[in-house]
Amino acid sequence: MAKKQEKEVTVEDKLKTLYSLQQKLSEIDNIKILRGELPLEVADLEDEIIGLETRIKKYETELKDSETAVSHQKQKAKDSALKIEKYKEQLDNVRNNREFDHLSKEIEFETLEIELSDKRVREFSQDSKNLTEQVEKSKSFLEERSADLAQKKEELDGIVSETKQQEEQLREEVKDIESEVEPRLLQAFKRIRKSARNGLAVVMIERGACGGCFNKIPPQKQMDIKIGKKIIVCEYCGRIMIDPELVGAE
Ligand SMILES: [Zn+2]
Repeated sequence: MAKKQEKEVTVEDKLKTLYSLQQKLSEIDNIKILRGELPLEVADLEDEIIGLETRIKKYETELKDSETAVSHQKQKAKDSALKIEKYKEQLDNVRNNREFDHLSKEIEFETLEIELSDKRVREFSQDSKNLTEQVEKSKSFLEERSADLAQKKEELDGIVSETKQQEEQLREEVKDIESEVEPRLLQAFKRIRKSARNGLAVVMIERGACGGCFNKIPPQKQMDIKIGKKIIVCEYCGRIMIDPELVGAE
């Protein structure tokens, strides 16, 4: 004779399981709503701070280069001045016109070199000044953002620690319930839930209408839902519809 079979899972059982799965998931959703935008705000601030730190480092490198350039140009001007001094001394002892012309040209050249160096010193000094301002501005901005981050993190940590245990418990329960649902049905459930704005994939019929989108359901379909022999989805929103009595609701 036929072997004793495992208890058959009825459509009603499946619907009940999906409904309880959804309730657990909705509880997790509510915890997330409680945390609100905080996780996103924290992540944004962290990104912004990394960006600011990178920018400050870049400015500081540029500032260092600019300061090096200033001292390099100052040294160049000093060297030229020393050369001019030396040429002037030599001018006192020239033996002919050719030497005189040569020294005069050198002095002229070094004088121009000093002018050029002075001009560059002014330019690089201005750069340094601008960069110093940029660094200071970015640093004070960074300080502000870091304070914002610390505050938001504290807020978020507070909420997370309050709800962490509850959430972990719920996730365990979700896992248990999910293991009871056949993979294809679970996949469909998840897909519907994802596209439903309120995260509800299973809705009750309310006064002959879909409890998700409130569109009227034809009488024959209402009857089928009541009988609960097959899974019926709303033709408008795609949600799975159940009879309130199935889950003990009015
Ligand atoms: Zn609907």
